[in-house]
Amino acid sequence: MPEPAADFHARVLAAAVDGRLPAPAMSQWDIFPWEAVDGAVVPKVLDAPGAEAPRAGEEGGRSCPACAGFTADRLVWEDEHWQLTVEPRPSGLPLVLTLWSREHLDTGDLDDDQAGEFGRIANRLVRIVQGLPHVGRVHVNRWGDGCSHFHVWFVARPEGFAQIKGSYAVEWDDILPPVDEDVWRADLHTVATKLANWGGHARA
Ligand SMILES: [Zn+2]
Repeated sequence: MPEPAADFHARVLAAAVDGRLPAPAMSQWDIFPWEAVDGAVVPKVLDAPGAEAPRAGEEGGRSCPACAGFTADRLVWEDEHWQLTVEPRPSGLPLVLTLWSREHLDTGDLDDDQAGEFGRIANRLVRIVQGLPHVGRVHVNRWGDGCSHFHVWFVARPEGFAQIKGSYAVEWDDILPPVDEDVWRADLHTVATKLANWGGHARA
């Protein structure tokens, strides 16, 4: 049940006022790098450096969400060592998935076997998600400034939109109205069952 690009566009325009969507919450975040001055969008002034804030799972930081356990509505697929999760509700891009190691590691801490497993799962996952008919490409991102538990994002952008490219696709995810939940759930089920062909358990 794919959503063709023309249908995607029509749905977005229907949610907009004069073609324009409202600014997302991220535009109010401290780390948002732009602001309006005298009607022009300009970079913010860079603040003086300070101490690094503890991340989730580090001493002084909030508890680690992966170690605390994901709720069933977030699990897409899992095996002995890995968990694939999604937010409980759809967002603006077709799919945004996160692959976590079960063990509390940071990027760079995986041994060769763990790195090999990650590479195989990531490669399969990109191939599967990119095979969905309305997905143009899957971006693979590791940020790691919020949580110290190894986790990598798989961000599927829609096909056919010249503006939704590269790292800006992540921003469009918060700008665009959520995709249709039935389409989203069907995609999650496809991803989970296809990934389980190589092992592990489909949970979506
Ligand atoms: Zn953890």
